[in-house]
Amino acid sequence: MQGESTALRHHPQENVLVEYSTGTLHQAGSVLIATHLAMCPTCRAEVETLDAVGGALLSKIEPAEIADGLLDRVLSHIDETPETDATSAGTTPSTQASVIPRPLRDFIGDDLSSLNWVEDRPGIDRVDLPFGTDCIQAALFRVRGGGSVPEHTHSGNELVLILAGELTDDDGSYRPGDVAQADESVTHAPFVPCSDSCICLAIIEGGLDLDG
Ligand SMILES: [Zn+2]
Repeated sequence: MQGESTALRHHPQENVLVEYSTGTLHQAGSVLIATHLAMCPTCRAEVETLDAVGGALLSKIEPAEIADGLLDRVLSHIDETPETDATSAGTTPSTQASVIPRPLRDFIGDDLSSLNWVEDRPGIDRVDLPFGTDCIQAALFRVRGGGSVPEHTHSGNELVLILAGELTDDDGSYRPGDVAQADESVTHAPFVPCSDSCICLAIIEGGLDLDG
């Protein structure tokens, strides 16, 4: 995992990581960020730092509310936590690599082809995910090789995590693990530059304004 992670070039913006660390990010975004963290040591370290800062601030604010012995109990649990937790937590043998990191796999399993894909528009298939809301679309999209997403603007934030294949827009090329972020200021028409389909997790607040 370390090897492929070093190739990541596009990360979520810091404010999103802060929202994730403080627990104020919505569930759909949190699943996407947790999935990115599983693929990105850089952001994992960043969030660990944010968590530590948040914990330190909290301990200054609420020292009286920590019951006697609680700290000892927490620390003893930390000592018990095996260091190989990340790899031992899954039931899948580690030799069987999945393109789907665990936080997302918990929701959709590990076989992208067996999902209930429906045609979103010609050349683009979609699977709606159970952590979307009325205001936030959460879905997997599969864009056929050589295909493109119609040019669109946004009425809210859009987070896209590439799971397989490649997607390109004016800001560059996105490969598995990369996060593309867009908002009201961005108009783009991402396309798949190669013959393999691109599969991505998209969290879209407020919907897209598609031209034409
Ligand atoms: Zn990252």
